[in-house]
This record gives sequence, C-alpha cells and structure tokens, in this order.
Amino acid sequence: MRRIAWLLGGCLLFALPVSGAGLMELLDSMKPARPERSTLQLPSLPLTPGRGKNWVGDRMPREGTSILVLAGHADSQRMYGSGTPGWAVGVAGAAPMQAGMTDELYWNLRTARAVVAEGKKQGLNISFYDPGVRTIRNVQDPRTNWSVGQQHASEGGYVVEIHYDAYSPHGIGAGIIPAVAFGFSVMDEALAKEFGAYPYDYRGMLGAPRRGVSMLEIGMLEGALERGLRDPRQRKLTLDRIAKRVVTALREGLEQGTSLRAICAPTTGIAAYCR
Ligand SMILES: [Zn+2]
Repeated sequence: MRRIAWLLGGCLLFALPVSGAGLMELLDSMKPARPERSTLQLPSLPLTPGRGKNWVGDRMPREGTSILVLAGHADSQRMYGSGTPGWAVGVAGAAPMQAGMTDELYWNLRTARAVVAEGKKQGLNISFYDPGVRTIRNVQDPRTNWSVGQQHASEGGYVVEIHYDAYSPHGIGAGIIPAVAFGFSVMDEALAKEFGAYPYDYRGMLGAPRRGVSMLEIGMLEGALERGLRDPRQRKLTLDRIAKRVVTALREGLEQGTSLRAICAPTTGIAAYCR
C-alpha cells in the first residue's frame, strides 16, 4: 500500500510526456511493447508516463529459485527489434562482430555468459537461457526469451535480460527497466543502485516488463565502452568488469533484501542516476 502511494506521488512529480530526439530510432532498436493477449495480472499502477525511478523494488525472489539471465534480442534477428548495430557498424561502417546478428546481440550474448560464469564463481544459483533459434516471430512461442522468462518469474524467480543501448543521440544510457508483472524486485533495486534506473512504464511499459522480465541496459554501444569490447586486447577485461558489477549488485540484492534502497537524483531525462 505504501508503495502504491509512493508511486502515485512519484508520478505526479514526473508526469511529463515522453518525448525527445531519437525515440523513433530507439523504437527500432528494441522490441515493441505489443499489447498481448495475456492472462497476467498486472498490479494496478498509474498510467501516466514516468521519469526516473518511479518504483521501489521490495519483492524478494523465492528462496531456492535460480537467477535467470537472458541475452536481449536473441530470438529477434532479421526482424523489427533486432537491437542496435552500435556506433562502429551504424556510423563508422565497421563490419559486424558476427554475420547474421546485430552487434548488440553479439555483446548481449557475451555479457550474459560472462555474468553467469562470474555469478557461479561467486556462488550464485544462476543460469543462462539461449533460445538458439535467432528469429521467432510469434512472441507467445514457448522458446522465446520472454516466454521462458515469464514462466520462471511466475514461479517466483528473478529474470534479467542484458541489453546495450543505441548510440547517441538515439540512446538513453545505462539503467534497469524493472519487471512489473509479478511486482518490483529487490534485485532491480540493487541493479538501479549500480546502473541507474528507468521508469517502470518506459515507452508505455515494454513487452519484457509486462511478462516479468527485467531489462538491464549496460550502456550505450559507442565510445570507450564499445572500443573496450571490440578491442581484442581489452575485451576480456571489459566483459569481466561488467560481469562483476552485475554480480555484485545481484548479491547485494539477495543479501540486503528489502533494506536496500537506491538513492536516485531527480532527472529531466528519462533514466535516473542512482547510488
Ligand atoms: Zn536491446
């Protein structure tokens, strides 16, 4: 109840229309939030577009359930919502890291695997799901990221899908877009503290959050971050650093639970900087 009141307060403060340059490009870089025929009961939430962190994660993952990690766009190549090509390919004309997939998916896969490897090393019950099939047009297909994620979340587990955002001026930047379907998780609160936070209703609430899957934007695929990933001499270190940041946050979420709160600065943009 307290959370609902807080959300209402937050939405009054942040009830500005979503706008901004690059939104159309961004739409192209991510899966659309299709109104799906779903039996999911979304919590009753204000429908005003929010800004910054207009949510509080206070739900613990069910004990004994694993953390499920997904690679964004792993099932949506060669179709709308295949992910960003990144600055190197999209602007500088470099060859994609791997033929047949966007650079975003390439790095989402590498990062998701690095997060799971690091998580296991640190004793987390954590696993990675890859649909393997790179183009699945039916969002209700049981093999998609979101179908598998929804099933896991419905059993009380936590699910996070790794993403990199489009380069500027199209991207927004790092931050967690929290799962909404089964309540806001302490794990998202912890990731907000490390990466920043998007409003839960970003772009009218995306398909993943509607199905119980949180989306973690690591950062925009450009500049030092993209160079660090693309440079073979820096690649391992770059992936290791990102994986450690994610795993540290996940561990904090599990260890500190509901006592953990991300403190976020007010923002005139969409995502909030938090600490
Ligand atoms: Zn993405």
